[in-house]
Amino acid sequence: MSGDARVRVRCPQCGPRTVGLSAIELVAADAGGVNYRFGCPNCGKRVVASADRDVQRTLARNRVEVVVPSLKEELAELESQPGVQEGPTPS
Ligand SMILES: [Zn+2]
Repeated sequence: MSGDARVRVRCPQCGPRTVGLSAIELVAADAGGVNYRFGCPNCGKRVVASADRDVQRTLARNRVEVVVPSLKEELAELESQPGVQEGPTPS
């Protein structure tokens, strides 16, 4: 083992699974909770689930950081990207 901690997660299709920490991303949830996402090693599906205490503790212990502040911010970022520029308004 490379020291990569294993975390018990749950795939909606396959049920409980164990995946390596490096396969998990933490995502902040709107309600102040934490979600995580991972690629299921069994079906390959990308799963997003809310992290229960066990998962949170394991991730915190291994200093996994929340990589995405929130979906809202992701969206805000998309919206604030320079797209169509308004021309200078003639005065
Ligand atoms: Zn699965």
